[in-house]
Amino acid sequence: MILEIIPVGLLAANCYIIGCEDTNEGVVIDPGENGEKILSKIEELGLNIKYIILTHGHFDHIGAVNEVKNNTNGLVAIHSLDKEMVEDEKRSGNNRRSVAIDSYNVDLKDGDIITIGNLDLKIIHTPGHSPGGICIYTEDTVFTGDTLFAGSIGRTDFYKGNMEELLFSIKNKLFTLPNDTKVYPGHGPSSTILEEKNTNPFFI
Ligand SMILES: [Zn+2]
Ligand SMILES: [Zn+2]
Repeated sequence: MILEIIPVGLLAANCYIIGCEDTNEGVVIDPGENGEKILSKIEELGLNIKYIILTHGHFDHIGAVNEVKNNTNGLVAIHSLDKEMVEDEKRSGNNRRSVAIDSYNVDLKDGDIITIGNLDLKIIHTPGHSPGGICIYTEDTVFTGDTLFAGSIGRTDFYKGNMEELLFSIKNKLFTLPNDTKVYPGHGPSSTILEEKNTNPFFI
């Protein structure tokens, strides 16, 4: 699997570009800002972008969606419960900044599989940080958006956040993945499921 991490924007949201080495088909996860940087990395990797997958609808994860969409073949995919955030810019922000996106194409739901060349990406619905938050699981890797961070969890004080739901999602949908699964969060460094079970202060 091809994997590139590009921290973008003021909040250094992690934009991930992943691709199939055999077919050069690829996916962009959370193009939050810095569209030019993301596009030049896609070009450098020679990837044909099939999807732009959004882990959730917050502004720091969607800021460059329009730019990346308009310059690739990527279909924009988001869980239906976070659509209202990307449609209504007031709901994607936290009073500091907000954005809306022009259009989206694919409604994601729990259990969906998105196929990119030889890679199967499994969509895991993990509400709590936002109602339509998702994680993306493939091979030995999970992209956790703002649901789970190395040593922390997402905030729940934004629009429709819910702490109980967030803890339930992490315990029942992420901590049930194999222990050696690598965790690539929406901000900050990577981790593993085992490391978070053992050291994350919200769970020990
Ligand atoms: Zn967020
Ligand atoms: Zn974020």
